[in-house]
Amino acid sequence: MEQATIEVVQSEGQKMIADMVRDFAEKFIRPHVMRWDEAQEFPVTLFQQMGKLGLMGVLVPEVYGGTGLSYHEYVTAIIELSRVDGSIGLSMAAHNSLCTNHILQFGNETQKQRYLPELASGNWIGAWGLTEPNTGSDAGNMRTVARREGDYYIINGTKNFITHGKTGQVAVVIVRTGEAGDSHGMSAFIIERGTPGFSAGKKENKLGMRASETAELVFSDCRVHKSQMLGKEGDGFVQSLKVLDGGRISIAALSVGIAQGAFDAALKYSKERHQFNKPISTFQGISFKLADMATRIEASRLLTFRAAELKNLGKSVNKESAMAKLFASEVAVEVANEAVQIFGGYGYTKDFPAEKFYRDAKLCTIGEGTSEIQKLVISRVLLQK
Ligand SMILES: Cc1cc2nc3c(=O)[nH]c(=O)nc-3n(C[C@H](O)[C@H](O)[C@H](O)COP(=O)(O)OP(=O)(O)OC[C@H]3O[C@@H](n4cnc5c(N)ncnc54)[C@H](O)[C@@H]3O)c2cc1C
Repeated sequence: MEQATIEVVQSEGQKMIADMVRDFAEKFIRPHVMRWDEAQEFPVTLFQQMGKLGLMGVLVPEVYGGTGLSYHEYVTAIIELSRVDGSIGLSMAAHNSLCTNHILQFGNETQKQRYLPELASGNWIGAWGLTEPNTGSDAGNMRTVARREGDYYIINGTKNFITHGKTGQVAVVIVRTGEAGDSHGMSAFIIERGTPGFSAGKKENKLGMRASETAELVFSDCRVHKSQMLGKEGDGFVQSLKVLDGGRISIAALSVGIAQGAFDAALKYSKERHQFNKPISTFQGISFKLADMATRIEASRLLTFRAAELKNLGKSVNKESAMAKLFASEVAVEVANEAVQIFGGYGYTKDFPAEKFYRDAKLCTIGEGTSEIQKLVISRVLLQK
């Protein structure tokens, strides 16, 4: 009996996606999780397979080669992948919600026709570069600059912590085109791998999410034609905030999936492990942990699907996606921590899955805005009223 999944009412479409992705994750991801983790291997061919299943363009309309589904199905797919491997969930989320969605939301018809079919099919992996070494939470103070020269922009600077910074064939990059401190002084460009002056820098050696590639993007007199700009000059930062509003729903889903995976493993182990001649699940100290973990995961799931529902309805999700991301990510860390505790000494070893969930979960409170920044976003909305 599958006790671990706490279901919100699911549509037929969600059920189909959940079954398909669960089956895929069991066959093609679970057997390799620890090998990819230890080698920090980003499994590119897996993402091509995922493209064939429609998972690399879930929100992209069919006319551009995507699957054309809603945020409900998208969130469902990320949860199912992340239950097995958070790295794969993170990479899918970054590809779909950041790079692809930025082009979908703000690209012109020529840009959409050129890039969306390649990204949605998984032929190309997408990257999205906002963060810089000296400006993370304070992204608006970025220093990477694009200087206009006729029909071209000359870009200089470095973006860091970029998911798919080495492997991504195309990157949406936000750079300064105006004055420092002006939120309308930044613009977004689509830059293809192979453009002279654009290269990958250092790949990070990370605590968790090790099968999701994270690297620098380096621009050294990189010439980009003005036709590669997304929207108008000066719109890039405002576009990014909108992209992140949707992206945070996917990090909330990633958090739910990791928490669920950690919980499933801990529940099973608690029934199998005997101490004092009894399964440890019979001790209230353990069963109450399980009760708290399950309750918090369900609350995370509800906040995540609520934000997804509002997004589907075309409503603003600025506060709701930040709430879902804040809550679900903190819960993922707490649940993974308790899972390690339930596994005892074995939880501290790489022979059992708890330690990896624990390492992976921590990214969720940092990526796409830290928990502190989510509180800033939420409180700003509350105080506007
Ligand atoms: C695995 C991974 C993948 C990533 N992928 C991408 C990607 O694809 N694209 C991309 O652009 N970026 C990416 N990032 C970057 C990520 O979004 C940033 O790391 C994050 O926004 C935090 O920035 P920072 O690391 O510079 O921390 P800092 O901004 O230096 O923050 C340090 C600490 O100060 C706190 N802090 C900062 N400002 C405030 C404030 N005003 N009030 C209270 N506390 C504050 C923060 O909460 C944090 O605790 C990724 C990061 C990681 C680790």
